[in-house]
Amino acid sequence: MLTPHTTETFGSVLAATMVSSATRDGVFEAWRAHPVEPLTLSPAAHALHYGSACIEGLKAHRGGDGAVRLFRLTDHVERMCASAAAVCLPVPGRELLHAMIRTAVEANLDEVPASPGALYLRPTLIGVDPSIGAAGTPSREAVLFVLASPVGGYFADQRALRLYVETELPRSTPHFGTVKAGANYAMALGVIQRAGAEHGADQVLFAPGGDVQETGASNFVLLDDTRIVTKALDRSFLHGVTRDSMLHLAHHLGYQVEERNISVDELLAWAPRGEAALVGTAAVMSGVGALVHDGARIQVGDGDVGPNTTRLRQALLGVQRGQEPDRWGWTERVPATTGA
Ligand SMILES: *Cc1c(COP(=O)(O)O)cnc(C)c1O
Repeated sequence: MLTPHTTETFGSVLAATMVSSATRDGVFEAWRAHPVEPLTLSPAAHALHYGSACIEGLKAHRGGDGAVRLFRLTDHVERMCASAAAVCLPVPGRELLHAMIRTAVEANLDEVPASPGALYLRPTLIGVDPSIGAAGTPSREAVLFVLASPVGGYFADQRALRLYVETELPRSTPHFGTVKAGANYAMALGVIQRAGAEHGADQVLFAPGGDVQETGASNFVLLDDTRIVTKALDRSFLHGVTRDSMLHLAHHLGYQVEERNISVDELLAWAPRGEAALVGTAAVMSGVGALVHDGARIQVGDGDVGPNTTRLRQALLGVQRGQEPDRWGWTERVPATTGA
């Protein structure tokens, strides 16, 4: 039996400097960069009782040329603002959040590891109104902060993953699938823990009613020598920036891109002859070697990370590290370079 991968160390070391802002009368005030320190919070803070919190996750990469580049910052800022609105918290200005994240990289520049490591950025927004009676009232005041963490790979190694296929429970509630809200991860945890303990699974592939959606914190794709297939965007799952990037790259490399529903039946038929992978900022693109479904273990391909998975993973890392042309304007250098 496989030993489950460990993700315990990912994100457990913080870079020295964080960047914070807070609202006054619901409006964010000037941010500041300062050493990482504990938050001062009322024990009645809204986020602690009613889950008014959301997060983002993105990376800054050190290239072969030594330059540091943030990947698709604008898209992550946009999604954070959408998440903030969904949990009814004050929505930060895009320019403010953009500047805070850039500053979190710049202030920790010497802690950006060489590849394959990266500096993982974690913007976090929490409701802080001190009232334990506010279950039905949004928090007017919020604290926004950006943490940075030097990371290696998310999964302990590049070994192919084992996924438990969950065909009853969804990962999240239908109207919160696209939101990076803390409560989504808490509600998926029990399912993931059980799949690990009972089936040695590294992660859970949520496929309620036979509709393949995504795993606990990554999107899911099928691929082979000619095609990449993934669920079309709807409200049920998180719209990953990595997913979108992979589809652009795959199309550019000549793969046929299919965005459509995938049934568990198709998944099981695909497994023996194709590849499957998780895609996300933390996972990058991680190959799947086996599925556990209905008590049976089904091997995916030859059980190892497939050649197309490796090829696309390398293509994405190449763009992120400035080794491949940035055709779609995805990267921004930190600090900014002046002119050409
Ligand atoms: C963050 C996340 C992803 C991946 O999104 P990226 O933008 O690619 O990092 C996928 N699924 C879930 C549930 C997530 O939280």
